[in-house]
Amino acid sequence: MSGTLPWGTIDKYYLAGALYKHPPESKHGGAGGKHWGYEGLIGPTHWHKLFKNACSGREQSPINIQREYTLYDPKLNDFAIWYDPPKPGSKFYLLNNGHTVQVNTFGPFYVANGGLPSVYTTAQFHFHWGDASHRGSEHTVDGKASPIELHVVSYDAETYPKISTAMKEHQGLAVLGVLFDVVEKDNPALEKLIRNFNAIRDPEVKTEVEMDAMPIRDFLPKDTSKYYRYNGSLTTPGCYESVVWTVFEDKQTISERQLDEFRRILKLKKEIGGGSGGRRKRRSSLQHDQEAAAEEVLVELGIKGDPMKELDLALQLEDEQKKEAKQFKAKHSHLKADALKAKENSTKTETSYKVQGVQGDDDTVDMQNIPIAYIQDMLWNNYRPVQPIYERDVYRSFKLYTPPKKVVVLETAYRSNNNNNDWNSGEMIKCNYLLLTLVLSCISMLL
Ligand SMILES: [Zn+2]
Repeated sequence: MSGTLPWGTIDKYYLAGALYKHPPESKHGGAGGKHWGYEGLIGPTHWHKLFKNACSGREQSPINIQREYTLYDPKLNDFAIWYDPPKPGSKFYLLNNGHTVQVNTFGPFYVANGGLPSVYTTAQFHFHWGDASHRGSEHTVDGKASPIELHVVSYDAETYPKISTAMKEHQGLAVLGVLFDVVEKDNPALEKLIRNFNAIRDPEVKTEVEMDAMPIRDFLPKDTSKYYRYNGSLTTPGCYESVVWTVFEDKQTISERQLDEFRRILKLKKEIGGGSGGRRKRRSSLQHDQEAAAEEVLVELGIKGDPMKELDLALQLEDEQKKEAKQFKAKHSHLKADALKAKENSTKTETSYKVQGVQGDDDTVDMQNIPIAYIQDMLWNNYRPVQPIYERDVYRSFKLYTPPKKVVVLETAYRSNNNNNDWNSGEMIKCNYLLLTLVLSCISMLL
């Protein structure tokens, strides 16, 4: 272990992730039992190191869907989604697993057709979102992200006995991806979940809120016949390449207020001054995690063993950390205040950590308290960036609309020639115009 680096400064900015508490095992989650997150050394670019032989294959998700390179497949018909309405007695269980807001379904829910190779049983749905409206979705279309994305996760229960088996097998899972547009009006289906967010705000309070099940279709776009299809992976560790992906062309809607409700959800965080028993043990294992992670950074940067460079890096990070803490505080202070208020109002079990106080606006930022408390508090930007597509094809279930732009231009050219009494060239252009229209309609038929 290098003794030259002032860990006290470097770890707070760069290694916040190493402090995460062991996440609760999600009923249908990815690989439990390991620390992972969306930032720093436990973020998506390090998943392949945290989970050996995972998250680095050639069929990873999400992807950027480039519309013009997608292939039309007429066999991709509309979906059959049932039961709708849900069978009596069907339930939703809303929870916060520290990585997302998830709804586990109880009762018979199925997804079939839509070009799927089997009838898939729906197990859960969950969301990915960002801290600003121009990012948050995992899939992007023509490079454009949505502020939030819904994933409805179903598995091939006809072939595999349980989801944990199916999730490791080719086409064992079918995930429906729904992108959202921000509108003024609240989304009533989402609102039914959001009104229970107070009870699940803190993932360390292991609460599941039981609700009457709602039709899955209420969360999908109205038209489910237009979608993109490709083979990909889970977007969380261990990133198994077992997913038949559907990303709908049409979007659902959400209001800015509702988006903010998602952004107020808290993520797993370190214990600060909790119960005294076991504190020593926690601290020493945390220190070990931090040092191991810091070591990895130094090796990656190629400066390990050079005391001057290590010190340089530490000072640089400290500076960045101060700036970031101030920016973050200025931008998100209202969310922080609201989240704290909601926590206070919550009647749930007392949590095992203390929330750090809010710092004044002067130049000195208390490194001991502020940055980690802020960075770790909110669960946002819980989306994995797009992955390389490699040799995969992306199909679409619908014909692309061909804009009649060129025809309009030609028509103008014909008229202007006509006005000049140049009848011959006018007739010729008219002829070309007819030919081109014919060609264009042929092309659009092929597409
Ligand atoms: Zn997901």
